[in-house]
Amino acid sequence: MKSTMTVSNKGFNTPDSDINSFRKKMLNWYDKNQRTMPWRATKGQKPNAYHVWLSEVMLQQTTVATVGAYFIKFIARWPTIFDLAKADRDDVMHEWAGLGYYARARNLHKCAQQVVEQYDGVFPQDEKSLQALSGIGTYTSASIRSIAFDKESNVVDGNIERIFARLYAIKQPLQDSKKDLKKLAGFLTLNQKKRTGDYAQALMDLGATVCTPQSPKCLVCPIQSFCLANSKNLQNDIPVKKKKPIKPQKVGEVFWITNDKGEVLFEKRDEKEMLGGMIGLPTTPWKSANFIKKPNKAIVYHSFTHFDLKLGVIEQRHEKGFKKPEKEHFWVQSSKLGEVGVPTLFKKVIRLMNTKENL
Ligand code: SF4
Repeated sequence: MKSTMTVSNKGFNTPDSDINSFRKKMLNWYDKNQRTMPWRATKGQKPNAYHVWLSEVMLQQTTVATVGAYFIKFIARWPTIFDLAKADRDDVMHEWAGLGYYARARNLHKCAQQVVEQYDGVFPQDEKSLQALSGIGTYTSASIRSIAFDKESNVVDGNIERIFARLYAIKQPLQDSKKDLKKLAGFLTLNQKKRTGDYAQALMDLGATVCTPQSPKCLVCPIQSFCLANSKNLQNDIPVKKKKPIKPQKVGEVFWITNDKGEVLFEKRDEKEMLGGMIGLPTTPWKSANFIKKPNKAIVYHSFTHFDLKLGVIEQRHEKGFKKPEKEHFWVQSSKLGEVGVPTLFKKVIRLMNTKENL
């Protein structure tokens, strides 16, 4: 029989018996199917709040597959929050290069210092105090509280939103139903004190491996009996997709400046610029202009969250009288370009120039 978890005109209705049964099924499934991740505590092990926080910040806007190697690198270099708090910020930015959303790295470093200065290196457990720290918002505070400290908390990420949209057969796009979805998910976490972290991670794992964006595997889903979308055969139509707005476009130029020693010029970007504080190749400011993407050996395209960018690559020789960049700059031997920690945009330029030189 289908569950009574339905969306009625009067509001959301989720009886206790269903909540208990739902949570039990999720936890049993998690015990057998949980994903292994370098930041996760294994059975019987106490979660490490530093690892949980670091991984959650890295996972904001970035996939699990990408984060793994970065997490291991960070933990090897800065094994504790005290080590990270003491680190040079440029080193943190360097190790973060390629992960994107660089404000996260700046906030990460600042947050480590705040936790050391204000809390002797021990993360607070309540969401309000967590949210007062740099780079920790509603989602991250809920996930730290639940995963690191096993406290009641309503963790709702993109995977969990999709599961609840399907469970309740919600036909509005996710972007328009976030509040309702959070409320629905909250009914199943309210006053729950046992295995709260496992329950949150069970939902995350189910969304990543079973209730996937395309072709959900309903036949092996532990909560199929609760799912309205499945009972109506709507699982492939929910969540409903909203038409994406067209992204603004920007254009500019990037300089590939070489000298007689076979070196390439790099600079440190201004804090207020896009990719601020990161190492990059010199560029002009990026200005709004429309373009059509066409393959070209002297152009690099890159898509940021809020705009698409087209950069023309200009090659220059550094000769006598060459005007030095105003920004902090340095030279890198062309054989060592792979060792400079630069954002993906500049990695694309390096790749393009290397391919050209090897032709
Ligand atoms: Fe997702 Fe299918 Fe499970 Fe429903 S039954 S929660 S659509 S995997």
